[in-house]
Amino acid sequence: MRAVLGGPLPDRGEPAARVVEDLARKADPGIVASGGPRFFGFVIGGSVPAALATDWLTSAWDQNAGLFVLSPAAAIAEETVIGWLRELFALPEGTGAGFVTGGQMANTTCLAAARQAVLARAGWDVAARGLIGAPRVVVIAGEEVHVTVQGALRLLGLGDACVNKVKTDGQGRMLPDAVRDALRAAEGSPTIVSTQAGNVNTGSFDPLADIARLARAHGNSWVHVDGAFGLWAAASPRFRHLVEGVSAADSWATDAHKWLNVPYDSGLAFVRDTGAHRAAMARTAAYLQRSTSERDNYEWTPEFSRRARGFTVYAALRSLGRAGIAELVERCCDHARLFAERLSAAPGVSVVNEVVLNQVLVRFERPGSSLEEGDAWTRQVISRVQADGTCWLSGTVWRGRSLMRISVSNWSTEREDVERSAAAILAAHRP
Ligand SMILES: *Cc1c(COP(=O)(O)O)cnc(C)c1O
Repeated sequence: MRAVLGGPLPDRGEPAARVVEDLARKADPGIVASGGPRFFGFVIGGSVPAALATDWLTSAWDQNAGLFVLSPAAAIAEETVIGWLRELFALPEGTGAGFVTGGQMANTTCLAAARQAVLARAGWDVAARGLIGAPRVVVIAGEEVHVTVQGALRLLGLGDACVNKVKTDGQGRMLPDAVRDALRAAEGSPTIVSTQAGNVNTGSFDPLADIARLARAHGNSWVHVDGAFGLWAAASPRFRHLVEGVSAADSWATDAHKWLNVPYDSGLAFVRDTGAHRAAMARTAAYLQRSTSERDNYEWTPEFSRRARGFTVYAALRSLGRAGIAELVERCCDHARLFAERLSAAPGVSVVNEVVLNQVLVRFERPGSSLEEGDAWTRQVISRVQADGTCWLSGTVWRGRSLMRISVSNWSTEREDVERSAAAILAAHRP
């Protein structure tokens, strides 16, 4: 790629069509089919057709979605999407939201609002005064907290040291007793409890209802939900039970570019307390023509100028409808179960997580192998699958053991893709 795309900055311009055609041709060998139906790595997803086409439209329109005056259509599309998603996720009436680049910035935005609110209750305006000299904020999170929550806490000046990591069960779910103890230890301190809906390895959910109840008994707390992909379970009558209690939280981070299958980049930060949300994010200058009655999108995000990414989410939601979103979620989860069924039926292959959602963790061993040999063999099976190219997936380390990690997140994956991929994985396991 460096050899074909690199070189010095040209002195003279070239015709646009030539540049684009040349780039398309030369970049092609370096383009990953991560939007395709047999891509099961990380938690990726593809693009439903309406969202992809609307993304082109969004680029062609080239709207700056920061201010209402710069794009009333973008502002109202986003307002509409917020209403629809509030309903789909059963979030409290009046909850506000910001459209951000992804889960990382959604967590950051939500936790900024959390920091603002818990410190305000402790008599400290962090937006005005900063953190120096502020009361110490405690963050309670599970051992399995996603790295982006930690990244957010670093950006927010709270750092790794503020986090009290509590024990989780065998699936990575926070243990309510451990949360209770941590809340007790934090009594008197402004406290944020960061929970997870959808563990990135197992797909499991923290017991949100229990945690919310415990947090309410604490003097000054805020419950955040990192639901980057798992929050979409709320859209399905079959899987909604996993997020029971979710509406009792204070903030929710999610991605549209994962399970809703819209193009990158698209995340959402929902915050119940719109006052805290805007106090954490809003800033103004004399030259900004702000609206007195309408939504100025930049007041809800860390970004100022930005892409009108709400159009794409709007198109995906309309093209799928309530039923289509539920179906998308359920289909992916059914495919994950089919993977688990096919793979665990073979000798030396075990599925080590409860397949509650769309994630499957698989272990490969040969007869009489030690744990270490099983680790090495599992990693080798993953490399062989990647080299074979029928499908793509990667690995993880869970509770000290190397595992294959399968995530079914793409709208276009069909049963036949799963059958073919499972066969290819089992072929890679055969000596
Ligand atoms: C993917 C993911 C994130 C980060 O989201 P990005 O969109 O990649 O920034 C955060 N939390 C969880 C649980 C995730 O799965």
